[in-house]
Amino acid sequence: MHEWSLMQAVVEALLEFAGRNGFSRISRVVVEVNEVSQLEEDILREAYSVLTENTIAEGSTLVIEKVPARFTCNSCGYTFSLEEARRALERLGEYAIPDEEGTLDMPTHYIPAVIHGFLRCPRCGSRDIWADMTSSLRVKAVEGER
Ligand SMILES: [Zn+2]
Repeated sequence: MHEWSLMQAVVEALLEFAGRNGFSRISRVVVEVNEVSQLEEDILREAYSVLTENTIAEGSTLVIEKVPARFTCNSCGYTFSLEEARRALERLGEYAIPDEEGTLDMPTHYIPAVIHGFLRCPRCGSRDIWADMTSSLRVKAVEGER
C-alpha cells in the first residue's frame, strides 16, 4: 500500500537522521500530511508502529498534522487553497451535490483523487491547475534523547 511505502521512507530517513545526530532514543515524531494526499491516518499509524519495531523509535508517539493543499493556476499564476477553490465552485454551482442536511458539498470531499477534474481557478476559471503535493508526507520534528 502507498501509506506503507511512504512511511517506510519516512522511518528510514528518521533513523538515519537519529544516527547522524547521536540519538539513543526517539520519543516523539511530528509528520505533516497534505490534506489532499488521500493518505489514511490509521494506516500511517499502523505502518509507523510496525516499521519502528526493534528500532530506537519503537513505542514513540507519532503526531500527524494536516497541511493545507496549495494550488496554482497555470494560466494566470494565481495561488489558492482548497477552501477557496471549494467556495468558488459553490458560487458557480458546479458539480455541487446536496448532502443529507441539504447543504451543497463537492464530490471531491468524498473522492479527493478526482480533485483535478473539478477544480477551477477562482480568478480566471481555468482548469489548468497545478497542485503542490511536495509535502504529501514529510517529517517536521523529531524529539528524543541523546
Ligand atoms: Zn487562473
